[in-house]
Amino acid sequence: MFETFTCEQCGEEFAAHPSARAAENGLCSPACESAAKGFYLSGL
Ligand SMILES: [Zn+2]
Repeated sequence: MFETFTCEQCGEEFAAHPSARAAENGLCSPACESAAKGFYLSGL
């Protein structure tokens, strides 16, 4: 069973299994993952 999450990076809704890494991160794709990471690192 998949659940719908909202990506914290781009705001898009995406479906993911609750135990998936994407659901844990709240990020829809590797691109958003690296974008979010870059944003985080740039804030240090
Ligand atoms: Zn996204």
